Amino acid sequence: MDAVDVLIEHALVVTMNDRREVVTDGSVAIRGRDVVAVGKSADLAARYEPRERIDGRRFVVTPGMVNTHIHVTGEPLTRGFVPDDTPFEENVFQWLVPLYSVYTEQEERLSAQLAAAELLKSGCTAFLEAGTVRFVDAVVEGLVEIGVRARIGAWVWDLPPEPEVYRQITDEAVERLERTLAAHRSVAGGRIQAWSMIVGHTTCSDALWRAAKDAADRWETGLNFHMSPAATDPEGFLAQYGKRPIEHLADLGVLGANAVLVHCVHVDDNEIKLLAHHRCSVAHCPTTALKVSYGVTQIGKMPEMRAAGVNVAIGTDGNNASNYSDMMRATYLVAGLFKDARRDPKMFPAEVAYEMATLGGARAILSEHEIGSIEPGKRADLVLHDRDRPEWTPLLNVANQLVWAADGRGVHTVFVDGRRVVDAYRLTTLDEHDLYRRAQAAGEAIVARTGLPDRAKWPRI
Ligand SMILES: [Zn+2]
Repeated sequence: MDAVDVLIEHALVVTMNDRREVVTDGSVAIRGRDVVAVGKSADLAARYEPRERIDGRRFVVTPGMVNTHIHVTGEPLTRGFVPDDTPFEENVFQWLVPLYSVYTEQEERLSAQLAAAELLKSGCTAFLEAGTVRFVDAVVEGLVEIGVRARIGAWVWDLPPEPEVYRQITDEAVERLERTLAAHRSVAGGRIQAWSMIVGHTTCSDALWRAAKDAADRWETGLNFHMSPAATDPEGFLAQYGKRPIEHLADLGVLGANAVLVHCVHVDDNEIKLLAHHRCSVAHCPTTALKVSYGVTQIGKMPEMRAAGVNVAIGTDGNNASNYSDMMRATYLVAGLFKDARRDPKMFPAEVAYEMATLGGARAILSEHEIGSIEPGKRADLVLHDRDRPEWTPLLNVANQLVWAADGRGVHTVFVDGRRVVDAYRLTTLDEHDLYRRAQAAGEAIVARTGLPDRAKWPRI
């Protein structure tokens, strides 16, 4: 008998392996940070002597989901403050930019922990952030403590003149990017890794685009940036370079298999060809598209991107553009939006949407060899969904249940790197009550510091 740390037994195990096997009366054996075996409970019980057994009859076990775009600073502590009827540019420049610029170091750390808490508790074990606005070291420290898997980086741009607090000239931007990579290339056994991140849109000079791609290649890591959520990006690139954004980036040599482009709502057929040719990933953020009126259902080409071979993964973005970070809810939208828009039920079947949220995300963050499925040799990033709930009952088709019926509320237990970070619906690594109390106080303080008006429409008496 082989010794293992944990044996989850008698569960329904959704492996997401190459054959997409779902194991009934299944077990998962965990040793250290790895999955060592997956299979029938009777087989594993005969082979493994665990330090701890978990009776899995109540659970559906899945791989942790991977969120390929989230702002863990700047937004979580001011969630919902920005009115939901502001046009895109007003949303960004009049509301988000001032809010981003006033967080203190402790507030950014707290913000990242609040974001990670929401992710973990809704079944997402890994994320790619949009770029920490100011205090990367503190954010990394907070993420190590809470136990999530993350790909992080600094907020880097060189064209916007405001706000002064994080304005950067090109040399400073490149220096900040390199410093972040040097300091955090691999932290906590690789659970946290720095990426080459730039803000994207029309905020970066050609020199910065090239430097960011060069840094990603040199450090053997990924490159991510926002592009074309709204028409302003293609309009800006066409005016300046006479080419659409992805055409210009291809000419600069920025595209590649290590690049994740966020949004890509306003793209044309040639840009899709370029994305596919360069084997890029796209982070599709359906909740932001809905809330900020990007037009994804009218002009989005996510079905065409997938058909062309682009790896389309899922993100939840910032908490004022998409006020929740539950990847299960976002996956539900991925499955549903184009079914309706194209009046075609074959668009994004549940199995495909769920694959995008797991293996697609893992591939986007260059970690498909480690996460995205439950297989021997991969990391034990596992989610135990609670069947003892109305939305999980009856359980007849697990893919439909995961995508169309369930959401993050049913996440009972979560492992990351073999460590139980959520147990019986509560974080094990932090005092949740204290986290929420501090986040509420910080949110009120941040809003007060900006001097922005309270635009809530219901009178408070
Ligand atoms: Zn974003």
